[in-house]
Amino acid sequence: MNKAIFLDRDGTIIEDKSYMYHVEDLILLDNVVEALRKFKDMGYLLIVITNQSGIGRGYFTMQQAESFHKAFVELLKEKGCTIDATYTCPHAPEEGCACRKPSPLLVQRAIQDWQINPNESYMFGDKETDVLCGSNAGVKSYKVSAQNNLLYWANKIERHEI
Ligand SMILES: [Zn+2]
Repeated sequence: MNKAIFLDRDGTIIEDKSYMYHVEDLILLDNVVEALRKFKDMGYLLIVITNQSGIGRGYFTMQQAESFHKAFVELLKEKGCTIDATYTCPHAPEEGCACRKPSPLLVQRAIQDWQINPNESYMFGDKETDVLCGSNAGVKSYKVSAQNNLLYWANKIERHEI
């Protein structure tokens, strides 16, 4: 069985500028690289779970979203933080899909796809919906903020405090 860190993207790993699809808008938050490296060193898979309702709302296309996301993954890879997988909900809330966070569906799908033990895994995000999504899937879930950022939580895991 594998263990994983499930991560929200916008507002957790990169600055949230709402409906991002221009590569110029891609800015990593402070300490993210150090935190992600730490997770990797501790043997966790890194799996991004992201709601991209801008696709469903018609603000940008699936293709634009994909090329933005590809640039995001490349940028992290160059810095030694390989993202193992990404699961995206492309729907607008009105579509009433089954995969939009706080639904645990995409986390559950990743758990199956990657043989992940939820009890040894964590979810981090900047919104209550991220925390709900993770806990709905049986994963320990915590909110990141400017003070309690990803590195703060990575240190907590390293010290076996959570
Ligand atoms: Zn969806």
